[in-house]
Amino acid sequence: MSVRLVMLGPPGAGKGTQAGRFAQARQVPRISTGDVLRQARQANPDLDKQARATMDAGRLVDDDVVIWIVRRRLAEPDAREGFVLDGFPRTLNQAEALDHLLDDRQPLVVVDIEVPDTTLLERLQTRRICAKCGMPATAVLAVCSACGGPLIARGDDDARVVRERLRVYEQESRPIVEFYRRRSTFRSVDGDQPQDAVAADISSAVASVLGAR
Ligand code: AMP
Repeated sequence: MSVRLVMLGPPGAGKGTQAGRFAQARQVPRISTGDVLRQARQANPDLDKQARATMDAGRLVDDDVVIWIVRRRLAEPDAREGFVLDGFPRTLNQAEALDHLLDDRQPLVVVDIEVPDTTLLERLQTRRICAKCGMPATAVLAVCSACGGPLIARGDDDARVVRERLRVYEQESRPIVEFYRRRSTFRSVDGDQPQDAVAADISSAVASVLGAR
């Protein structure tokens, strides 16, 4: 059964990894605004210097830009029946825009991955990303497990920028958790456990929402 899922959680919670796993298992696209922005930067280094500086500093790109990206992506045929959103929404404005972009043919399931700050800091400093497909990985791997591409550190994972990203998360994105928490389609899962256990909890959480309808 297809599903529309929003994966929430602070930087380093494992959103990208879990969104990738879930999307692959359910055969729906994973839509990561961070990946779209990084690819746009690679394709055209001069493109929007402001967005580049914003990302490098760990701050949020303008709502208008990311909402435009998501609106365009959700209109593509492969996203009609389902998708996993990773890294969007990140502000209340974006969450409200997402509600307007969706029809009510299917519920929007929201899963928040909870991880304590100490674990987040440790993970962010050792994480890598595939230079080819954008899949997140850890420093213990040699190449990307999805496509075999080379792994690189993300520029915005250095200690100072990491602290800024966590601060921005608390200020801008934490309120979204409260925005969705009131809905019957919201679940939270413990992200401070092995990857497979988190994936299993996410599957059960989604099943409990869809089964209850
Ligand atoms: P991510 O890969 O999701 O951690 O995103 C990397 C960076 O892209 C973020 O730190 C932001 O600068 C930018 N970005 C990604 N998604 C959004 C969003 N929904 N709203 C604003 N900025 C975003």
